[in-house]
Amino acid sequence: MTPAGGGRAARALARVNLAAIERNTAKLVRASPRLCAVLKADAYGHGAVESARAVLAGGARVLAVATSAEAAELRAAGVAAPIIVLGALTRRELVEALAAGAEVVAWTDALLDWVREEGGGRVHVKLDTGMGRLGTRDGALADRFVTRVLATDSLELAGVMTHFATADEPDMRFLEEQLARFSSWLDALRDQHGPIPAHAENSAALLGAGRARFDMARCGVALYGLDPFGVDARARDLEPALELVSWVAALKPCAAGESAGYGRRFVASKATLLGIIPVGYADGVRRVISPGGEVAVRGRRRPLAGTISMDSLAIDLGEDPVAIGDEAVLIGGAGEARVSAEEVARWAGTINYEVTCALSPRVPRHYHRDGEALDA
Ligand SMILES: *Cc1c(COP(=O)(O)O)cnc(C)c1O
Repeated sequence: MTPAGGGRAARALARVNLAAIERNTAKLVRASPRLCAVLKADAYGHGAVESARAVLAGGARVLAVATSAEAAELRAAGVAAPIIVLGALTRRELVEALAAGAEVVAWTDALLDWVREEGGGRVHVKLDTGMGRLGTRDGALADRFVTRVLATDSLELAGVMTHFATADEPDMRFLEEQLARFSSWLDALRDQHGPIPAHAENSAALLGAGRARFDMARCGVALYGLDPFGVDARARDLEPALELVSWVAALKPCAAGESAGYGRRFVASKATLLGIIPVGYADGVRRVISPGGEVAVRGRRRPLAGTISMDSLAIDLGEDPVAIGDEAVLIGGAGEARVSAEEVARWAGTINYEVTCALSPRVPRHYHRDGEALDA
């Protein structure tokens, strides 16, 4: 007998629809004609190089990453668009970022010294208007950095920026405070120096307002069809691009009183059938989603049974027939059996961003365009 599932490409895989990323990008470009597509963390788990091509096809003009290695990866793949490295850099990382022709973010004299000493480059000066992370909170100091960059031959001012802390929350007050701080600082800066490109909005701020207030928005999560507000991407006309699928690799009859999994956290209250799915927390399926989480098989959701292991998990099939070889959908699917990343995030007590970022390198990414496979 040929074991069902023998034709499967992999025990578990992430299918990424590049056409969906392209259309999500085009939607964001309508709200922010100059769009910076954020591809950090391997494009939120979707694959940075392939996603870069999709967002550029969708009309993004600038790319952003968090680390110098991420910038170098895109350049090595032949991506020519401007790249901003958003994160903090050690001096060695700064060298790598500049070697990749990336733009960097600065908020201290020491950082500007480094860029100058390493031969110069394009710099974004960051004002911290309330995120409390990178950037200076001191507007006068940020002014001085802008003046210094403008006055230094080897430094080029690529833009000024800030980042919002609460754009995804229904209470708009802090967002408005941050906006007011940034806008009044920017107005004074432009009075003094003339036009200076500015960027601030993330996905939630852009979609919340409907159009960009500044010269460029920096969007990540929405590109991938994930809802920046954590509820329902489809309600915002975003198309989820990633599906995580595995298969029913074994069926295990379980009599009343028999248990399954580490710690015996599942004990059958009546006779049932368990489906064993070869995907686990080492693939990025978070252990905390059991109990409570579900997996879709044959158009129906099935509850997780017991503890998620490193390499496998079990689902409770009850009386419902499924066959070895059936596809098991952990994220994605259609109709009643659709499991969204937002829902998985709620089971895990986290945000959708973390759900796709958690997918480990052990899960191969398979790229397609609306179901049509791309040549590997
Ligand atoms: C990650 C990030 C973004 C993108 O945020 P999304 O919520 O994914 O749109 C924008 N700006 C900065 C500085 C970031 O770190």
